[in-house]
Amino acid sequence: MDETMSVQQNLKTIKGNIQQACHIANRNPDEIKIVAVTKYVSVQRAQEALSCGVVHFGENRDEGLQEKWDHLTEQAVWHFIGSLQTKKVKKIIDKVDYIHSLDRISLAEEIHKRATRPVKCFIQVNISGEESKHGLQPGEVAGFVKDLSPFTNIELVGLMTMAPYTEDEELLRTCFRDLKELQGNIKSMDLPYAPCMELSMGMSNDYMIAIEEGATFIRIGSALVGSEK
Ligand SMILES: *Cc1c(COP(=O)(O)O)cnc(C)c1O
Repeated sequence: MDETMSVQQNLKTIKGNIQQACHIANRNPDEIKIVAVTKYVSVQRAQEALSCGVVHFGENRDEGLQEKWDHLTEQAVWHFIGSLQTKKVKKIIDKVDYIHSLDRISLAEEIHKRATRPVKCFIQVNISGEESKHGLQPGEVAGFVKDLSPFTNIELVGLMTMAPYTEDEELLRTCFRDLKELQGNIKSMDLPYAPCMELSMGMSNDYMIAIEEGATFIRIGSALVGSEK
């Protein structure tokens, strides 16, 4: 599962794993969208993924997004998955369909101001409480959602988290479960701008657990396209 394998081979393995996790959790595999995270790899490798039928692509920097976008723009759906500086919003806003890293009101304000149509956003939540991680604390999320109401160019489609880098399955499971529970709270607020139907969680190392716990978008880099240019 690395860059010596074809994307097609990796994709086949991942799809098999998705099937398996869905079977365990009694879910429909069609609910799971794979976001190919291309931040480590070349345009060519990203194009290989596109030719294998991958539709969703994720980048975490405006330069990377620009480079890949120039070459894959017609067919790809773009996700911005990295922490987003307010001053970078205008560079990316017309290229992305989803932003996974909404974590402060000043950013919401800027997205609202620069967007010419509603943008699908995820609130990034620091579910594990690790200091190194971006995102709102779980207890801050409901208030933040209410504060989004003036920003009509923001559609809150879901919550996103990055789990700790660990092999401790129970810890991972707890993180994903906590995000799902929080999603339930936001959904029950029943706000028209915050349907919050999606959960962006799970990466190369933990996506099967994330799927078992309710992920709808999994963000996969190294296991799908590899991790070296
Ligand atoms: C890099 C990155 C990923 C993908 O990581 P892999 O472990 O290579 O699958 C997913 N989400 C975010 C936010 C990332 O920055």
